[in-house]
Amino acid sequence: KDAEKHMLRVASVSKVYGGVKALQEVSLEVASGEILGLIGPNGSGKSTLLACISGTQSASSGSIRMDGAELAGLPAFAVAQSGIARNFQSIRLFANLSVLENVLVAVLANDRTATQASARHKAMTLLDRLAIAELAHRRSGDLAYGQQRRVEIARALALDPRFLLLDEPAAGMNEAETGDLLNILGQTMRETSIGLIIVDHDMPLIMRLCHRLVVLNRGSVLAVGAPQEIQNDETVREAYFGR
Ligand code: ADP
Ligand code: MG
Repeated sequence: KDAEKHMLRVASVSKVYGGVKALQEVSLEVASGEILGLIGPNGSGKSTLLACISGTQSASSGSIRMDGAELAGLPAFAVAQSGIARNFQSIRLFANLSVLENVLVAVLANDRTATQASARHKAMTLLDRLAIAELAHRRSGDLAYGQQRRVEIARALALDPRFLLLDEPAAGMNEAETGDLLNILGQTMRETSIGLIIVDHDMPLIMRLCHRLVVLNRGSVLAVGAPQEIQNDETVREAYFGR
C-alpha cells in the first residue's frame, strides 16, 4: 500500500458509449507534485478519461485509485471531496457574480466552517496566485476569455485538491495569455504538492510544462515518456503529428 501513497493510478480503464469504445484498457499514473501531459488526436479519449477519473462519467471497467483507495464508481461530488478537482472544456462560471464571489462560492463549499474573513483571505490569495487579484470586483461575465479561464482554475484550487485535472485550459487563448498561464501553472505546481494531469493541443506549452507525457490514440495508450522522447517517437509522430 505504501507504493500507492501520493499516487493517482488508473488501471485498465475502458469506457464504452453505446457502440463506441472511447477508452480501451487505459493505464497511467501521476504522483503528487508531478505534471503529466495527456495528448492525442481529436476523439482519442482524453476528455473521456478525465471524466472517468472525476466521476462525471463512470468507467465501464477498470480501477482508479488515489493513495490505494478506489474511486471508480463514486459520484462526481464524492470524487471532488476526496481531493480531485477539475476544470471543464467550456467555462462554467456564474457570469453575474464578481470574480471574488465566484471563488468564494468554491472556498465556502469546500470549508463550511470558514469565517467570512478567512474565506475572503483564501479567495484573494488564490486570485493573487492566478495573477487576477485586480479583477476581484469585476463581473465574471465581462472578463476576457483567458481571464475567465484563470478564474476557473482559481475555483478548482479553492477545493485544496490533491490532484488537478485540466482539460484544454489554454484553448482559445492567444500566445501571450498562454505564456502567462504556463508560468502561473508552473509556479503553482512548484509551490504545492498537487499532481496535475493536463490536456492541451498547445505543444510548446505541454512540452515546457510537463514532466511526462501519455499519448492516447483511438482510446488506447500509444506511448508514455519524457517530452523529448515523445517528440522523437516515430509511432507518435505518425499517429499524432502526422509525419
Ligand atoms: P478527446 O477529448 O480526445 O477529443 P473524447 O474523450 O471527447 O476525445 O471522445 C472520445 C470518443 O468518445 C469520441 O469518439 C467521441 O465521439 C466519443 N464520445 C465522447 N463523449 C461521448 C458521449 N457523451 N456520448 C457518446 N460518445 C462520446
Ligand atoms: Mg476533449
